[in-house]
Amino acid sequence: MKVFFKTYGCQMNIHDSEIMKGLLKEAGHEIVDKIEDSDLVVVNTCAVRRKSENKVYSLIGRLKKGGHKVGVTGCVAQGMSEKLSNYGVEFILGTRAIGSIVSAVEGLKKIDLEDRISEIDSQTPVLRNQKKHAWVNIIAGCDKFCTYCIVPYTRGRELSRPLSDVINEVIMLAKNGYKQVTFLGQNVDSYGKDLKDGTSLAKLLELSQAIDGIERFWFLTSYPSDISSDLIKVVGKYPKISKNFHIPAQSGSNRILKKMNRRYTREEYLEIVEKIKKEVENSSIGGDIIVGFPDENDDDFEETLDLVKRVRYIRLNVAPYSPRPGTVAAKYYEDNVPFNVKKARMSRLNEIQHSIEKELNEALINKEVEIMIENTARKVSYGRTIDNRMVAVDEIIPEGEMIRVRIEDFKFGTLYASSRRVSIFA
Ligand code: SAM
Ligand code: SF4
Repeated sequence: MKVFFKTYGCQMNIHDSEIMKGLLKEAGHEIVDKIEDSDLVVVNTCAVRRKSENKVYSLIGRLKKGGHKVGVTGCVAQGMSEKLSNYGVEFILGTRAIGSIVSAVEGLKKIDLEDRISEIDSQTPVLRNQKKHAWVNIIAGCDKFCTYCIVPYTRGRELSRPLSDVINEVIMLAKNGYKQVTFLGQNVDSYGKDLKDGTSLAKLLELSQAIDGIERFWFLTSYPSDISSDLIKVVGKYPKISKNFHIPAQSGSNRILKKMNRRYTREEYLEIVEKIKKEVENSSIGGDIIVGFPDENDDDFEETLDLVKRVRYIRLNVAPYSPRPGTVAAKYYEDNVPFNVKKARMSRLNEIQHSIEKELNEALINKEVEIMIENTARKVSYGRTIDNRMVAVDEIIPEGEMIRVRIEDFKFGTLYASSRRVSIFA
């Protein structure tokens, strides 16, 4: 079979597609880059907002109309399988059943929503999108049950991979020439808790950074109140570990945080951020905010604005609240903030965030930074600093090379560096 993948959503979904592609390739199928060359389209879906779910139905509708065979995987497959079966798709594969992709593609399984996620390990073949930067899932699922979020229902309970298996994967990646690894999970700070053998994200990072060949380690996403002092220490201590913490606050109002079932207050959140800033040199903070959660009033929103100004995020994702079926918020709270108010709050927040980003990035002009090249497009290479800022350099430099450059400008959300390399490490 010639299979084309269309992937929506988060890094975890992108990585799940890499795993499914690897399994299919190993079984003798071909992964194609163009839909018109395919015998089957796999749509790996996201259900985090209504908009992302609707995109899936409209794509599947169009594909079916065009005579394509379609298989559906991901969060919509897991959570909305009944609705999907009305679309006449060839198969529906749940988030923890991705290991069955070969049987599904070969027509042996029409629907599989079972939990066999523990079968995915360091021996599972993966067809990665990048040659030097690898994503590695360390923990599946989420146990937090934030009231707005569908993820615990679509991705199930937390299950950590054994530490030795993750380390084996990192060693293999290093042998295969990878230079960067990002450890992934809905809540990476929970990594190891279910194993009850002393495994933790801090321990994983400490062991991994000692493996020769990999120059940078990233981790996301962090849950604010689960960030441990050990993790902060390890990040501060080892130069190969990214100084960026992606810690979604979701709101700056204690009243709304409580309704969201986030397990921290704004004061506790700010304390964690302060601790990171104090203990980790050159740290940066990323985050997510939901605006227009049920009952969010102007005062609550002002508190969110205030929190954003205090934290000074290097990057912030802002999303309007969207009720998701089956969640506590959708069942019990009225979606009572009008869409035009959500939109106005989003643009106010984004405006403030843009000015913070401008200040943080302009402060780097005329300074030297070390970047690792990630990709090249139209004679411009893009690399990331250890604190997660994208820098464009106007020459073609191979992916995975670490260079020192001088920052000259900041425009359109990107830092620009002169093509003069100060020195080359790799
Ligand atoms: N585990 C991470 C955390 O604790 O924040 C994030 C995972 S979630 C899949 C990614 C982001 O989607 C969240 O940070 C949140 O901002 C957004 N999100 C989740 N549910 C949402 C909803 N019902 N409406 C709007 N945004 C939502
Ligand atoms: Fe969703 Fe909350 Fe879990 Fe993040 S921590 S995945 S927002 S339930």
